[in-house]
Amino acid sequence: MKQQTVLEVRHLTKGYGQNIVLKDISFSVPKGSIVGLLGKNGAGKTTLMKTILGLLCQYDGEIYFDGNKMNCQSAAVMSRIGSLVDVRFYDDMTAYQNLNYLLLADPRMTGTMRKQRISELLEMVGLEKNRNDKVRSFSLGMKQRLALAQVFVHEAELLILDEPFIGLDPVGMEEMKSFLKEMQRQKNVSIIFSSHQLDEVGDLADEIVAISDGTVKYCGTLRELQNRNKKYKIWFKGKELPVVIPYDEEKLQDTISEHSSKGFAVEKIEVFENALYQLFV
Ligand code: ADP
Repeated sequence: MKQQTVLEVRHLTKGYGQNIVLKDISFSVPKGSIVGLLGKNGAGKTTLMKTILGLLCQYDGEIYFDGNKMNCQSAAVMSRIGSLVDVRFYDDMTAYQNLNYLLLADPRMTGTMRKQRISELLEMVGLEKNRNDKVRSFSLGMKQRLALAQVFVHEAELLILDEPFIGLDPVGMEEMKSFLKEMQRQKNVSIIFSSHQLDEVGDLADEIVAISDGTVKYCGTLRELQNRNKKYKIWFKGKELPVVIPYDEEKLQDTISEHSSKGFAVEKIEVFENALYQLFV
């Protein structure tokens, strides 16, 4: 059965004035999956996320959410997407008050419902003890957690998170990863997050979309990417230079048979890998 797609970006091109930042970007996000947008600073990740979120309106190409073509007027659809892009807080308000302020916008919620939801959210992101502290006193990591609580204020089906690990220490980072995986598992939410660190992306994302200079350089799993980047180096007796082939068992066997039929026996086989970051520069 074909996996359902929650988001599809087709041939997206977007610039700021003469500066074309996204060049013919296409990729899709399977429902319930976590996709990591990988790219160095300035690659175009934030611009891509803002365009998907309808924060930037003029672009070429198409964006579909759950089969609906999006534009900047897609408010009803946007309410099903939670985002951590350009998050702002009221520094002089407490964590509780910041969340309360957001929830006040929902007329269906009574005061009791709001209180309960805020407690759930603060517990979910581990800020229960800081509920009455002003945001001004928060560390970057605590702010990041509060931002995540804001993302979950409305039960979104798709989360778009710009650099969710910035400011987190290694423990906070692991907690955040397991939290996002838990959301995926429990609520089947789909998540797109950005990062410039391959190791951050690697163990969280089901799929990677690597962007460099506004174009998609790779789209697929980390495993495929690693395999694609690996090569076999085979030395044959009587040949000065090794034969280099892709990391593929069938090709390895074929190469060995072909050479042995010509009288060249294998001397040594090595696997080598190019540094993955080279793919993105
Ligand atoms: P990333 O998130 O990968 O670091 P960005 O999307 O923020 O990349 O930026 C991509 C390019 O677009 C950069 O060259 C940046 O300078 C440029 N850019 C981003 N925002 C604006 C803006 N508001 N006006 C003009 N140029 C911008």
